[in-house]
Amino acid sequence: MPSLTRVEATARGAAITVESYQVDLDLTGDGDTFRSRVEVRFRATPGTATFAEVKPAQLLAVRLNGRDADPGTLTDNRLPLDDLEATNTLFVEAEMAYSNTGEGMHRFVDPADGETYLYAVTFLDNVQRIFAAFDQPDLKASFVLTVTAPPGWTVSGNAEMAANPAPGRWEFAPTVPLSTYLFSLIAGPYHVLRAEHDGVPLALYCRQSLAEHLDADADEILTITRQCLDRFHQLFTERYSFGKYEQAFVPEFNLGAMEHPGIVAFRDDYVFRSAVTDTQREMRATTIAHEMAHMWFGNLVTMRWWDDLWLNESFAEYLGVRVAAEATRFEGTWTTFAMRRKAWGYAADQRPSTHPVAPQEVADAAEGLLNVDGISYAKGASVLRQLVAWLGDEAFLAGLNAHFAAHRFGNATLADLLTSLSASGTAAGGRDLAGWAELWLRRSQVNTLRAEVTVDADGRYTEVAVVQTAPESYPVLRPHRIGVGRYAADGSVRRHEVDLDPAVDGGRTVLGELAGEPAARLLLLNDGDLTFAKVRLDPASADAVPLVLPGLADSLTRAVLWSEALDAATDGERPVTGLVDLMVAALPAETEVIIAEDVLGLSRSLVDRYLDPLTRSAALARIAGACQRLLDGAPAGESLQLAAARGWIAATTDADLLVGWLAGRDVPAGLKVDAELRWAVLRRLVVLGAAGAAEIAAEAAADVSSTGAERAARCRAALPDPAAKQAAWDVIVRDTELSNRLLEATAEGFWQPEQAELTAAYVERYFTDMPAAVARRTAWTADRVAMLAFPRYAVAQPTREAAAALLARDDLTPGLRRVVVDADDDLRRALVARTAVAATAA
Ligand SMILES: [Zn+2]
Repeated sequence: MPSLTRVEATARGAAITVESYQVDLDLTGDGDTFRSRVEVRFRATPGTATFAEVKPAQLLAVRLNGRDADPGTLTDNRLPLDDLEATNTLFVEAEMAYSNTGEGMHRFVDPADGETYLYAVTFLDNVQRIFAAFDQPDLKASFVLTVTAPPGWTVSGNAEMAANPAPGRWEFAPTVPLSTYLFSLIAGPYHVLRAEHDGVPLALYCRQSLAEHLDADADEILTITRQCLDRFHQLFTERYSFGKYEQAFVPEFNLGAMEHPGIVAFRDDYVFRSAVTDTQREMRATTIAHEMAHMWFGNLVTMRWWDDLWLNESFAEYLGVRVAAEATRFEGTWTTFAMRRKAWGYAADQRPSTHPVAPQEVADAAEGLLNVDGISYAKGASVLRQLVAWLGDEAFLAGLNAHFAAHRFGNATLADLLTSLSASGTAAGGRDLAGWAELWLRRSQVNTLRAEVTVDADGRYTEVAVVQTAPESYPVLRPHRIGVGRYAADGSVRRHEVDLDPAVDGGRTVLGELAGEPAARLLLLNDGDLTFAKVRLDPASADAVPLVLPGLADSLTRAVLWSEALDAATDGERPVTGLVDLMVAALPAETEVIIAEDVLGLSRSLVDRYLDPLTRSAALARIAGACQRLLDGAPAGESLQLAAARGWIAATTDADLLVGWLAGRDVPAGLKVDAELRWAVLRRLVVLGAAGAAEIAAEAAADVSSTGAERAARCRAALPDPAAKQAAWDVIVRDTELSNRLLEATAEGFWQPEQAELTAAYVERYFTDMPAAVARRTAWTADRVAMLAFPRYAVAQPTREAAAALLARDDLTPGLRRVVVDADDDLRRALVARTAVAATAA
């Protein structure tokens, strides 16, 4: 199936203007397909030709300007349209397949009650799975939707409902101009809550089996929605432009959420059925703010083509974190951003597949989908934060508002944004924005900022310098504006901001203002986390970390320090066992939930891949001990207790105590061993060989929810049993029936560091089986399964050789190629780190 190329989209965008889509969908019946009719009105140069895209189960009728055309002319997904007139009407009728992979019209039957729910996902080029369209972001049009569905259902789309002429029939008002990837609807017996704010009708939807959980959190969700909407209206002169603001929590959603105007979709894992930490609530709040930011960045002003995906995602990520911090009770979102999102960005930017935040050219839509990654989101948002520090907030916001005014309901590019920002930025201080953008947005890879410190006999600085470096293969230095924190042993701080300008000093900036000042116990570069750069401490500061870190009041500073420690271990500069030493020293004193959670999560990935089995066992025992101390000190019933419990469960080998928790024995006071925590305990017991298929079946029988089914699938794949592994592998490489979520859960469970011998034969099979497995599936699910099923614990040269042999083939999909290139690079880094540690030991 050809992917629309940039060249084709540019030509078609110049050749035609789309006015409207009249979309009529019949969602009655319980077959595998639904009936789709669309009438597209568009203008063209008379006598020219173009094509529309559609992916039908069966194409029934095609009519162009009243003349029947032969449905047999459909080639792959392209419907040729010849002999166009000045104004044209295209009618296409088709049977379209329901999806269970979150692409197109997703259909989900809730195992909890047998109810059926539908929702439409059109990102990135999936509208053609629902109706025929000119599927590219710069051919905006008005959509008029009518739906036939079972009379008891709730149906909602981008626009307000205009009429309900008969039971089971819904007619919606015309939308304002939208890109095709933003069309959406939901249909099913959804539970609904309605509200209003500042003249904007609000609604929340979820499936019936989650209704009580949505009701319990509705106040929190609606309050955040109102607070964010108010804040955006303060920041932007252009008001929210899409009428109602509805938020639908839908099952088996692939992304965190999607910003469909008027009907935002969220994964319904955000409707919490079990106890969650405040981090999870904060992520939900940030996601609400992120999607709302898209109403301006993406929906009001849309990128012209996918090479400017960052204009959507970097801005939404930046504004989501910022607005959540400024307007909601979650004031610490920048700590979460530093700890979690930036780790994702740094990792992505150091991989072979890295790309500029704003690539010069994305060849086709399939390549655009691959850029839904840590660069377009986390790095891009970090770069915007740096831009604000460098340019000033007032100039930044003035530039954005000029951009919205100039391009509302249209499309724009990086060049257009720079024009808007330059006008305000130049007035604000004459910074060279074009030069800045070239280095930050057009070049990939990450810089390292290293402190070089000399101190005299009286304990005063003789010199403090910041040395900026870049990877040898990509020697680009950048201007940075950073905070410098000087910490005393008691945690008290003196902080100032400095500009690093390699054009002036070649990348070694001497901080002359610090000469003669008393030397701090710990000197921290990028304190406050304003820039996107790896940081390395001077040796004396590095030695002081275990002493100083636990007493630091500012969680963002602790996050930057932890990130430094994790990053140095990831790079093999310091041993993972040293990182575990730091965890033992500092983790039990940690009070910020996100830091505890991510230190445990990120270090675990290193422990599992960088350490040999014996060293790993010892490290896990020490981590379990640190978690136990954190758990002992955590307030009963609060987030930190839950985070510590989860960390302990994942690290302990004490099966008796775990079994006791399931039976309600010796559970710390205030800790609820509810559905999710029970599955976490059972998963650990399965890996330890202390629970089997019977226990999984019993737990699944007690939890008949779809989430329960996912957790059970993951546990079954993790069973240390040859038959279970064979069954799981068959699912991973051959199944085409299971939903996206059940496939992912199976792939997630398959590899366990404890089961190296049992799964050894599957290392080779990954590389032989995966090309055919990918070919059986749609792009998003294929790539997710390929990524999760990669043998990431087989850290050995033969795995890399097998990867190299696969990559030598010329028939891989771009998605599988990227998965294997990146996962192989992770193996390379793990091998380098293991070798470095072995050399130190010898
Ligand atoms: Zn987004």
